[in-house]
Amino acid sequence: MTASAGPGVRTDVVPVQPGQELPSGVAAALSAVDPARLVALLQELLAVPTVTGSAAESEGQHQLARRLEVAGMQTDLWPVDLAATTAHPDFPGMEAPRDEAWGLVGTWGGEDGPTVVLNGHLDVVPVGAADAWSSPPWAGAVRAGRVLGRGACDMKGGLACQVVAVEALREAGVRLRGRVQLQSVVGEEDGGLGTFATLQRGYRGDLAVVCEPTAGSLVTASAGALTFRLRVPGLAAHGSMRTAGVDAVEKYLLVHQALRRLEAVRNEGASPLMAHYDVPYPLSVGSVRAGDWASSVPDLLVAEGRLGAGPRRRPGVGRPRPTARVASRGARRALRLGPATADRSRGRADRALRTRRRQARPRAGRVGGGRRAGGGRADAGPARRVRLRRQVTRPTP
Ligand SMILES: [Zn+2]
Repeated sequence: MTASAGPGVRTDVVPVQPGQELPSGVAAALSAVDPARLVALLQELLAVPTVTGSAAESEGQHQLARRLEVAGMQTDLWPVDLAATTAHPDFPGMEAPRDEAWGLVGTWGGEDGPTVVLNGHLDVVPVGAADAWSSPPWAGAVRAGRVLGRGACDMKGGLACQVVAVEALREAGVRLRGRVQLQSVVGEEDGGLGTFATLQRGYRGDLAVVCEPTAGSLVTASAGALTFRLRVPGLAAHGSMRTAGVDAVEKYLLVHQALRRLEAVRNEGASPLMAHYDVPYPLSVGSVRAGDWASSVPDLLVAEGRLGAGPRRRPGVGRPRPTARVASRGARRALRLGPATADRSRGRADRALRTRRRQARPRAGRVGGGRRAGGGRADAGPARRVRLRRQVTRPTP
């Protein structure tokens, strides 16, 4: 985040006309914002390595809870019931294993007005290669007017702004008719556990402000994304007789082309709020793994990706028929070689990508238009597959 606000805190985001005086409460609150305190809080938050799924997530929530209490907020810090939460049919998914997770909400204000939710996530993604950092990722060094560190931008900077904003309002003596509800959540980077658990706790608002990084833009719509995993089976054979096997990579290439067409269909009629993006809701495959030996025809490919979805649209829901039709039409040739299957690794992408297995089931005695090595089903179970592999594999020269 930029730490160069200095004494001249930005006032251009306050909805007043040029020359018009700020409401006294707003002016007092703005003058109570202390950039140095903001930077100090951000550095405190950065010092706890709250990588999503780690124990430090909980440590960070407890640390911030103390801050909210000192600020005079009514603080609710609770252990999330992971078993019940993850079993909920609407649970958005979780990638990182956890033994515990904590929810945190600080509330301040009156009872005679709307509730404004300030929502921010405390968890961060891993640091990657430590030696690639120009300064230690947890130190929060200030350089050229910027605070550097893992999560400084996404989104401990935003969370610190929310906390300092509430503190400034209180210190300026502002009295609210409605309420501010500051929600600090974990598990955002791997699915949305924290916000979901907060909703399950019963917290609701009339307006929500999420301080995710937007380069200073006011963003009123956001796409969603769920991750999926595809398993494309093939049939192993020695590379010297590759036509006796079924190459899972070649099958996947057809599936990938179908995914591109599916992406195009899902982006038809995109929200005007997002129409300026070349692809408002991308469908992206981020990892592909196949095969286990250079001289073998790969008998399995696993691809993982993310499925974008527009505002107010649940991925896989809404227009399921075109979605399923494009997926199945495009991948039909590939699926005839044996069904590809999709499941959700984080979300519900399986609904969008699930294909009709009945259509896709290979015809007896044929795999991909050629003879099936071993004469068995291409989607035989593990034991069967091992036996097939023995029949069609010969020693590496
Ligand atoms: Zn974020």
